[in-house]
Amino acid sequence: MPPLEEYVEEIRELWESHMLTNMGVKHNELEKRLREYMGVKNVSLMVNGHLALELVIQAMGLSGEVITTPFTFASTTHAIVRNGLTPVFCDINSETYTIDVEKIEMLITDKTSAIIPVHVYGNICDIEKIDQLAKKYGLKVIYDAAHAFGESYKGLGVGNFGDASMFSFHATKVFNTIEGGVICFPEDELGLELYRLKNFGIRGPEKVDYVGSNAKMNEFQAAMGLCNLRYVDEEIAKRKSVYEHYLSRLRDVKGIRLMKQQENVEYNYAYFPVIFDEKIFGSTRNDVFDALEKENIFARKYFYPLTNTYDCFHGKYDVNATPIALYISQRVLTLPIFADLSVENVDKICDIILSSKGNRIFGAGQGESR
Ligand SMILES: *Cc1c(COP(=O)(O)O)cnc(C)c1O
Repeated sequence: MPPLEEYVEEIRELWESHMLTNMGVKHNELEKRLREYMGVKNVSLMVNGHLALELVIQAMGLSGEVITTPFTFASTTHAIVRNGLTPVFCDINSETYTIDVEKIEMLITDKTSAIIPVHVYGNICDIEKIDQLAKKYGLKVIYDAAHAFGESYKGLGVGNFGDASMFSFHATKVFNTIEGGVICFPEDELGLELYRLKNFGIRGPEKVDYVGSNAKMNEFQAAMGLCNLRYVDEEIAKRKSVYEHYLSRLRDVKGIRLMKQQENVEYNYAYFPVIFDEKIFGSTRNDVFDALEKENIFARKYFYPLTNTYDCFHGKYDVNATPIALYISQRVLTLPIFADLSVENVDKICDIILSSKGNRIFGAGQGESR
């Protein structure tokens, strides 16, 4: 959060103008600053990341099937299903946890209209290969870039790839507007459609063109964003040093697999995922989770369960079609990481992890993660 006084200063003029929402001055200023910061051509702010995703899918007029991954937050799959589309789940790459581009092509049918991949933990999908497939089969590509704010790939802002990218500005993300989100897109025409879809499909006072939603970002959210944007580089730098301390403590531990950073990616250090191989580590991801929880440290099983195993989709999808995603989701823990996390606390977390090593002896057939 920014200093309180700074936020108060930022919202002071709202008391004078009484303009609280509907694409006001703060909203427009944040759009301008984000275009600059993210190095993208067009942006459309939304009340949250999820509705941003729902509306950009609607704006593209997709139909039939959409290829995506189950190793993601509920939002990605739900946005597809809530648009009346069928998600087709592709497995993930075991090193980057993003969509396995070698397995996309065999899932493409004559009903496929788009690919919605996720830049998981800020790892960037294989955009070159995805681009190539999209061109070959005439598919749209929308990136769920909720984890990738502030990142660049080969020196280019990550919001520049595909037909659109969604970034989330939820309170838990690297950059927040309390709740919020944005769509970045290269084609100008999409802007007008998004603008209308987030405002009930209204074209003019007496003309309603689309069955739109209400997803406008209000002025208080935008003011929070304007304040937080001033600190985001500093926040990322601090996260980086937390990340590196974790790395130095956990790098050489047998049975722990850490994320390998991609070349060409400037990271935002939003997540520190750890994969526990119970056979070598000698205890499970859940054992470590419980040991941390006992000390009031809340790591996240992120992403567990896979979206294709949710109760709301019972019987619809075959989890065995995505075995790597299943393996990772049963063994991953994302450790606490934020700018002000102290070295002492990182040490404490690592000490607890290391002391849970080998607490469980695995015999034949007992190696399953619960
Ligand atoms: C946070 C998140 C979203 C949803 O964003 P909200 O702003 O919370 O609606 C979507 N996808 C992923 C991968 C996320 O982490």
